[in-house]
Amino acid sequence: MKHREEIVVFWFRRDLRLCDNVGLYHALQSEYKVLPIFIFDKEVLEQFPNPLDKRLTYIHDAIAGIDNQLKSFGTGVLCFHSTALEVFSVLTKEYDIKAVYANEDYEPKTIKRDQQIGDYLGTYSIPFYLFKDQVIFRGGDILKQDGTPYQVYTPYAKKWREQLTNQHLYDYSIKLASELFYSINCAIPTLESLGYTHGVNGIIPPYVDLPIISNYDKYRDYPGIDGTSKLGVALRFGTISVRQCVKIALKENAVWLSELIWREFFSQILYLYPQVENHCFKSKYEAVQYRNNEEEFKAWCNGQTGYPIVDAGMRELNETGFMHNRVRMITASFLTKHLLIDWRWGEAYFAQQLLDYDLASNNGNWQWVAGCGCDAAPYFRVFNPTEQVKKFDKDFVYLDKWVPEWRELDYVQPIVEHKFARERVLKAFKQALGTD
Ligand code: FAD
Repeated sequence: MKHREEIVVFWFRRDLRLCDNVGLYHALQSEYKVLPIFIFDKEVLEQFPNPLDKRLTYIHDAIAGIDNQLKSFGTGVLCFHSTALEVFSVLTKEYDIKAVYANEDYEPKTIKRDQQIGDYLGTYSIPFYLFKDQVIFRGGDILKQDGTPYQVYTPYAKKWREQLTNQHLYDYSIKLASELFYSINCAIPTLESLGYTHGVNGIIPPYVDLPIISNYDKYRDYPGIDGTSKLGVALRFGTISVRQCVKIALKENAVWLSELIWREFFSQILYLYPQVENHCFKSKYEAVQYRNNEEEFKAWCNGQTGYPIVDAGMRELNETGFMHNRVRMITASFLTKHLLIDWRWGEAYFAQQLLDYDLASNNGNWQWVAGCGCDAAPYFRVFNPTEQVKKFDKDFVYLDKWVPEWRELDYVQPIVEHKFARERVLKAFKQALGTD
């Protein structure tokens, strides 16, 4: 039976916060009371096969935090464990819904899902309003003079900076009050009831550490120093607002801002060229004959390559779900160039392990390292893992932390010799690209 009151729904997705949330702001501005919902989407959960996945604990904790705050306004987050379509087919029967509000998501599968939900709601004449919240500029917002998208980061970043106005940094926080919400009394399902284990996520709270940001340009490249924000997870799940980060970056550190722009650069690439999800941005690179040796791939995953910086990175990743950016580049280069293993294998492994995993950033960076992406490092740039240690971990702080046995005689022998590997990969790429 339908509840008599007319409401609007706000659907939390990659925006797990109450403050400065564009879609929520607009829902609360409507003339109707807002019913906040969250869907533990069965189709999305299939991508999380590990019951101990810390990302689920993180999401659950974020929803519980929002629910707790909303309890003081006589409401909460109505949660479902289902598919989005099933949820809306139930909600449209039970409530008199005047509109559904959410924030845009730019991944190909989500775009398709939102299209389907929009069509479904349309059959009930319910508008589905989507807002830009996750980024300052979405795909298509920053274009070259001739109207085409940028495929090279530097001019994109320049235009991004030029186009930025105070309006893009507006704070969409709104004073919450009981009369704005539809009153519900509900409990969030436990992760155990969804087939997962609620652990400790170990992820830093979504706050910007100002001293780290103001010194970012000095320390960001040294994996032995705690010199980066560690806000990747918060930006991924929207527990922090990107507008807030950009405002701080503008004041504190231009280099940090350029990293936030890289995030938007890859977001627009995935949005405008969705084929990159499975294919090389530069299609001629599909011809590269990767060796794809499974034993070597396993050694790489387990941090057993005999190259201490590569092993340190993979062990940090396996143990914490994080890896320093410099080391992400080194390990990815090692896999694709030294071992000649398809970047898609490494990308998939990072997707499983990284707590800040984001399809656009992961895919864009893997293709960048492999040489097949837009504005990629040239294929002939092969990181030398030994030289990288001299430059970025000269006191071996990072190595000693993650591979304490690296100086010992019984440490694994290098899986491949650097010079040999370098020549092999250059030959393979030249052959594929016909530049022999
Ligand atoms: P900071 O250095 O403090 O930077 C602030 C934020 O800017 C980051 O949290 C992130 O949102 C963004 N950012 C920084 N560098 C990049 C970059 N190169 N590309 C896109 N966004 C960036 N980043 C992800 O968020 N998710 C991924 O799945 C991911 N996979 C990667 C895979 C490879 C092979 C490589 C080389 C890099 C990858 N990155 C990814 C980019 C980068 O390594 C991480 O964003 C960064 O290390 C996260 O640490 P931090 O939060 O301390 O970031």
